[in-house]
Amino acid sequence: MGKHFHQPVDATKVPRFAGHATFMRLPAVASAHGLDIALAGIPWDGGTTNRAGARHGPREVRNYSSLMRSTHHVFKTEPFKIANIADVGDLDVNPIDLLDGLRLIEAGIASILEAGAIPLCVGGDHLTTLPVLRAIAKSQAVGLIHFDAHSDTNDTYFGNNPFTHGTPFRRAIEEKLIDPGRTVQIGIRGSIYGPDEHDWAIAQGVRIIYMEEFAERGAEDVIAEVRRIVGGLPTYVTFDIDSIDPSMAPGTGTPEIGGFSTREAQQLIRLLDGLNLVGADIVEVAPPFDVGGMTSIAGATMMFELMCILARQIDRTRGLLPS
Ligand code: MN
Ligand code: MN
Repeated sequence: MGKHFHQPVDATKVPRFAGHATFMRLPAVASAHGLDIALAGIPWDGGTTNRAGARHGPREVRNYSSLMRSTHHVFKTEPFKIANIADVGDLDVNPIDLLDGLRLIEAGIASILEAGAIPLCVGGDHLTTLPVLRAIAKSQAVGLIHFDAHSDTNDTYFGNNPFTHGTPFRRAIEEKLIDPGRTVQIGIRGSIYGPDEHDWAIAQGVRIIYMEEFAERGAEDVIAEVRRIVGGLPTYVTFDIDSIDPSMAPGTGTPEIGGFSTREAQQLIRLLDGLNLVGADIVEVAPPFDVGGMTSIAGATMMFELMCILARQIDRTRGLLPS
């Protein structure tokens, strides 16, 4: 098994700073056919309400992902030996037409799913997760594990516009893409528009774990609850880089102090091992606000963590299926 799998460029032969930048130094492929995991960029920030720039996220995360090696040091997992993974490039986007942008992203994810691969995406702002979910949850609502400083369940902005990066999960609940009873938001903090900002989500059944509760309980206890909530049914993981403290990830549009350390973020993802994941993304890396590439490094590393969890899942599933 695995002889035909794509492999990253060998850094002992070609230095990390050389060659074309692709996610994890994997081959760039034209389609997701034959892949277990498709790494895709979504260079689109048409939903950003304040400081734009996440459209530049995929290119910089590709660049800094050259720092990732091939083995996870805790799990000892070698993702490229147990799963076929490659960079399928950036999805088509439209930077000046929001609705066409959403349509194109959904179509791009649909083609990855039709090829039988699990999408692991790098945005883009958080509105990109809505069309991803439209493709993934076309026939059945999924659970959602959502790391963020913000709930992103506001209703409308700027003249009743329903589509911004502050509204994707309200739309996803209304469109029955995610099951609010199997939706958990972790790391929520910062000033809000009003005391009732989160009430709508909570009334739908969403579990909001504020940063203060996380700090009190710790990662293991919190994720044990998350696992009870989402259970073994299909679940999507979305990681907004602004969940990490801006002292460690300043390159983002809506920074909020008091966030996760990068080490806590890694631990949180590792604790998701063994769930039934149908896709994942890293969003809101905005390189124009970055300092020395530290946010892109955080984004690339969190992508590596998620990729290892997905590869382990594929390895387990493969063992369960008849050959
Ligand atoms: Mn967000
Ligand atoms: Mn956020």
